[in-house]
Amino acid sequence: MISTITTSQEAIELENKYGAHNYHPLPVVLTKGEGVYLWDVEGKRYYDFLSAYSAVNQGHCHPRIVNAMIQQAQRLTLTSRAFYNDKLGPYEKFVTEYFGFDMVLPMNTGAEAVETAIKICRKWGYEKKGIAEGKANIIVCEQNFHGRTTTIVSFSSDEGARKNFGPFPGGFIRIPYNDIEALKEALAMDNVAGFLVEPIQGEAGVYVPAEDYLQKAAALCKEKNVLFIADEIQTGIARTGSLLAVCGNCTCEKACEKQGTYAQPDMLILGKAISGGVYPVSAVLANKEIMEVITPGTHGSTFGGNPIAGEVAVSALQVVNDERLAQNARKLGKLFRERMNKMIAKTDLVKLVRGKGLLNAIVINDSSEGSTAWDICLQLAENGLLAKPTHGNIIRFAPPLVMTEEQLHDCCDIIEKTILNFKK
Ligand SMILES: *Cc1c(COP(=O)(O)O)cnc(C)c1O
Repeated sequence: MISTITTSQEAIELENKYGAHNYHPLPVVLTKGEGVYLWDVEGKRYYDFLSAYSAVNQGHCHPRIVNAMIQQAQRLTLTSRAFYNDKLGPYEKFVTEYFGFDMVLPMNTGAEAVETAIKICRKWGYEKKGIAEGKANIIVCEQNFHGRTTTIVSFSSDEGARKNFGPFPGGFIRIPYNDIEALKEALAMDNVAGFLVEPIQGEAGVYVPAEDYLQKAAALCKEKNVLFIADEIQTGIARTGSLLAVCGNCTCEKACEKQGTYAQPDMLILGKAISGGVYPVSAVLANKEIMEVITPGTHGSTFGGNPIAGEVAVSALQVVNDERLAQNARKLGKLFRERMNKMIAKTDLVKLVRGKGLLNAIVINDSSEGSTAWDICLQLAENGLLAKPTHGNIIRFAPPLVMTEEQLHDCCDIIEKTILNFKK
């Protein structure tokens, strides 16, 4: 067992000394979680308003998901894909029916799933669309966030993410987000195989595109025989008030009913909350005519599709339906934005609130280099609520979706009190 930490200071010093400094965490050391709550090593309780970047939509340590993991861990953990295992097939049937696709390719982390989608898209471009070898392009958006591998950061517009990690592979065209004309122009170019897009840009600061953007984008891609690839790693699994953000305003409990404002992706990328934050699970879903370009030896992962991942993902997705998390996220999201707008009317410190379901952000009246948002987050932590700034002056608010209305009001009280009493 690992030796026990008794003070926050001790834990922070160890991380600083022995760990690479690839994050800049708030100075809070957490030791326990349950539902919407987290506790630090001194015993202070907080509301979690980040949910591990939307990986714990089902709440911390959900008993049903944790139990599924324990049961499976005691029986069989990993076989690799050199052999079949008795959990992968049933999981694959479940997850494809749940999201309405023919087939799934299981991976572990979000970035791996995005890499997988890029590989499938390119191979499809050569083998099905007939693009000349080495020439396939994928359209991406400004301010995108799709993960941290060298290929993925190659098309990031964030200097910090890219600088000194080259040389980079080519084959990506970057266009402004939420700009249908720019997409039309890019689609008119030769050799376009796919359009990779976040239905709401989370890391960039919760940018919600125009109501009809995704549907129009999907239709334009279809017209040009270009794959419409939705990265729902952060927006998916009920976060934005429907099972997927591409479902638009559809409140049905199954994405496959495809009604209302549904924008049909050719490939769907999932991660984060597909496991309830209990275990790394990610997936790429597509129909057979696309997925069949992947043949033995062309792609793989030692841990991808392991029996624990399958059990965990199935129970995490069942919880989403059984506890009506999409419906709850939609209802509480409206309440949250109403409460924030009332607060904004009383202060100049916050410019606006935006978001969908329980994926929201407030924009602080400061430059993107300023430290006000960080200082507010320190105060929020002091007052018992954990949130993190993104891009300097934006604070993302994304609590677990199992929150009750009463808890949400309590949280809004904390945010309001913190903001209205904030002094630089
Ligand atoms: C978090 C995230 C990723 C990367 O997932 P990891 O598991 O951190 O590799 C990719 N795309 C989006 C939209 C994300 O929010």
